Amino acid sequence: MKTSHLIDDSREYLEFVQNWVEALPAARMQDAKIHPASSALISVDVIKGFCSIGPLASPRVNTIVEPIARLMRRLWDLGLRHILLSQDTHEPDAVEFGAFPPHCVRGTEEAETVDAIQSLPFFDQMLLLEKNSIQSGLNTGLEQWISQHPEVDTFIVVGDCTDLCTYQLAMHLRLSANASQLQRRVIVPADCVQTYDMGVAAAAALGGVPHPGELLHHVFLHHMHLNGIEVVGSLE
Ligand SMILES: [Zn+2]
Repeated sequence: MKTSHLIDDSREYLEFVQNWVEALPAARMQDAKIHPASSALISVDVIKGFCSIGPLASPRVNTIVEPIARLMRRLWDLGLRHILLSQDTHEPDAVEFGAFPPHCVRGTEEAETVDAIQSLPFFDQMLLLEKNSIQSGLNTGLEQWISQHPEVDTFIVVGDCTDLCTYQLAMHLRLSANASQLQRRVIVPADCVQTYDMGVAAAAALGGVPHPGELLHHVFLHHMHLNGIEVVGSLE
């Protein structure tokens, strides 16, 4: 397929998905029938190495830190007590470094939760899950936690990146429930999700892989919606 065909063929969808993202409704907890006692918030990779320092830090991703901290405070005030932090905590010889430059190594500042979350008064009551891949469901203890909390049937997923760890986590939660015939809601507030941008020229200069942030953010939000994940504009 020629490039011009790909662009022409995609134009209608891209206009649609842009309008869809812009029109995503804000959802109020009460109206959306989200019950704090049976809900959990999972924040993925809202750590310094993706927000502010190191080779994978992104100003786009940094913009979701404040909305996420605000949402955590709001949910805590409403009585939600299950807040899980799934965070990259790599060893120096991580296999994943074959695909991405070394990042978020255990014990470094990059692997630390961002200050806006660390400074929340209930930070010490959050559960940290260390991960070594972009899939929070693999070798992290997440599945064990879920099996120990059968009353939790609603998962709110926030963090980065829209098309990588956030997508993988939301899809894991959705698909594992589908496979086991579990009634489960997976909710993604779009204002608490973001991904990084790397243009074709910048990637060539750095020896990296191009990553159009705006395009992938939109398409993957829509892809989650396609799979039955509830994507809302924000959660209030
Ligand atoms: Zn990683």
